[in-house]
Amino acid sequence: MTTEQVSIAGVWPHSIQEFVDGIAASVAIVGRGEAGELVVLACNDSFFDMSGGRRGTFRRFPVSFDLLMPSYARHELRKKLLECFDTGLAQELEQAYDLREGTEWWRLSLKPFRHPGGNEPVLEILVTGLNITPKMILTHELEVSTSRFRSVVDAAYDAIITIDQQHNITLFNRAAEDLFGYDSSEMIGQPVLRLIPESFRQKHDGYVHQFARSPVRSRQMNERNRIYAQHRDGSLLPVEIAISKINVGGLVEFTAIIRDIADRVRLMDLLQKQAVTDELTGLPNRREFLDVVENIMRSNEDFSVLMLDVDLFKKVNDTYGHDAGDEVLRVLAEVGIAASSKLDVFARWGGEEFVAALPGKTAEQARAAAEKLRSTFERQEFPHTWRTGNAIPFTVSIGVATRAPGERDLEAILKRADLALYRAKGNGRNRVEEEQSS
Ligand code: GH3
Ligand code: MG
Ligand code: MG
Repeated sequence: MTTEQVSIAGVWPHSIQEFVDGIAASVAIVGRGEAGELVVLACNDSFFDMSGGRRGTFRRFPVSFDLLMPSYARHELRKKLLECFDTGLAQELEQAYDLREGTEWWRLSLKPFRHPGGNEPVLEILVTGLNITPKMILTHELEVSTSRFRSVVDAAYDAIITIDQQHNITLFNRAAEDLFGYDSSEMIGQPVLRLIPESFRQKHDGYVHQFARSPVRSRQMNERNRIYAQHRDGSLLPVEIAISKINVGGLVEFTAIIRDIADRVRLMDLLQKQAVTDELTGLPNRREFLDVVENIMRSNEDFSVLMLDVDLFKKVNDTYGHDAGDEVLRVLAEVGIAASSKLDVFARWGGEEFVAALPGKTAEQARAAAEKLRSTFERQEFPHTWRTGNAIPFTVSIGVATRAPGERDLEAILKRADLALYRAKGNGRNRVEEEQSS
């Protein structure tokens, strides 16, 4: 090899120079100068492009490594080159090069080899670089979208759980940790059945398989009854669940978004209870009484009702005050409930009027029950701690009506009881009267 050839193409003959310029990888041969400094003995166009240098700037090889390489990349690459010279072992590194057009990422591999030169072969290093910018951009985009996904999942109020084809948990977000009382690390890899109440487990697998085959990709879990999940402590959690699935390399993965609806259920239960309960006495209200009794009426057994009204209640209020009046109504409720048998329904009809349904009771039995109740109040034969301090005397009038054989019309029976009550008032109060069906 002549000096002339070296000056044009470094250590490469002309034909090889053309060849290495043509390949997409950046290629250079690095050796040591007389003072031990790093010199680039030859490189292709791509290597110039990578380093941001221009071939025109360097008229001949060898070129000073320090001059060719940009300062920010120089240090790291030099370290690897020296390591390679020292150990004779191949090295690898990834470097970013900031060019005017933007940042480019390169993976460089350094391979030592003996190059015949002078009397003894000298150690030189073949540097080849692959542009990995597209891969780095993809990796970066993936990182961004992964961290975006993570932050959404972890900030969600709803529990989010994914399971794999074997129904083992692959993701368990923070809300899931809070809802179920498990740490994510405990649950990853565990069968999702652990979160499902025992009584529902058998059905669950079938449902998941069915959903896996269905063309629908996401939907609300529809159950006629409430859906419950199982907390770590075994308690049941009322929940609402939306499920979806994705296909990952031929395997189906499922995601469940689980909303804790305990508060809503509590509120609904409370509203439901309030809607059917009289606030002052805690008894069923008129609407609830009618609802329940309509059902009872479906059987053909004996059936009686009592209509009860406090006598001269206005006077109680006037004499002792409204609070005392309220207290009398509460006593009435207490005693009425205590006197009721299991199937009876004792309710507040409104104001100082009460109503009792007595399923299975004949007219005679109903009259006896009414009479007993009337006398209990008259004689105050009940335990009660009066908030008013002293007991307040009061009496009640009661109207009794009984279903005629086959009679279904509750309203008609109530009307007769009311008529009987009216008559009891007319006949002097503190009485029981009965109205027969015509
Ligand atoms: P009668 O023997 O004819 O039934 O006479 P009464 O005074 O009981 O009848 P009236 O219908 O004239 O009066 C009922 C009173 O009941 C009027 C009303 O102020 C009172 N009242 C209704 N609801 C309540 C309540 O929730 N608390 C109290 N303290 N009083 C009530
Ligand atoms: Mg009244
Ligand atoms: Mg009254």
